[in-house]
Amino acid sequence: MNKNFLTPDKDPMGAAIADYFSNRKAGKLRVLSSMFDEDEIPVKQLFRGLKEMPVAEQKALHLAEGRILDVGGGSGCHSLALQEMGKAVCAIDISPLSVEVMQKRGVKNAQLQNFFHEQFAGEFDTILMLMNGSGIIGKVEYLPDFFRKLKLLLAPNGCVLMDSSDLRYLFENEDGSFDIDLNADYYGEVDFQMQYGSIKGDSFDWLYTDFQTLSYYAAQAGFKVEMIHEGRHYDYLARISKN
Ligand code: SAH
Repeated sequence: MNKNFLTPDKDPMGAAIADYFSNRKAGKLRVLSSMFDEDEIPVKQLFRGLKEMPVAEQKALHLAEGRILDVGGGSGCHSLALQEMGKAVCAIDISPLSVEVMQKRGVKNAQLQNFFHEQFAGEFDTILMLMNGSGIIGKVEYLPDFFRKLKLLLAPNGCVLMDSSDLRYLFENEDGSFDIDLNADYYGEVDFQMQYGSIKGDSFDWLYTDFQTLSYYAAQAGFKVEMIHEGRHYDYLARISKN
């Protein structure tokens, strides 16, 4: 689990966001992983407005209420949409470049904070974790720490709205059976590294979790998970709240 901040020389996504904000265009934000072929995140997509967002994200924004925390705010797309709806939001990110862009774009409360750091505290009615928001948890083994942190941050009737994907389709055979090695690491644990021009970030762990695994660890920690929306490709939006 990452408890640090990024520095500008190791923050390709922050650099891409800052570039796009200043110049209305950006270069290629490359995504490397030992599990996938090289890919690219269209930087423009990080600046999406409410109408361009996937249904799951729109639902989450409409359901969010009270004191809202936007975890990993990026360019501030979700926080800005919430502010336009008249909702109160605090956005946090570990990227100083992204936090600066959020502030310049008008996010009223954007802070350089790491969700997992002991110093980050507060009380929230809705915690938003979007764009495969389970990613920052990193690995299945960190789920208990994640739920411990939620106990500290959630108001008595608060909830988390988080999207994720079940990656089992990557291991599906034509006959519908799955080649999943149960002795190996959990199949949704991915390593990523990003690169923007000459700026290459460190490799980081990113967790995709299926609904059942999430529900199992939630129950162990005294939480329940409800399915709010199921997408077309094994993706879903979940609501996590105290039991
Ligand atoms: N929510 C935005 C950005 C998603 S990318 C969107 O949907 O467009 C994930 C973001 O989370 C990045 O900006 C990254 O810097 C930030 N992040 C990663 N780990 C974090 C942590 N532990 N605490 C806070 N932010 C984190």
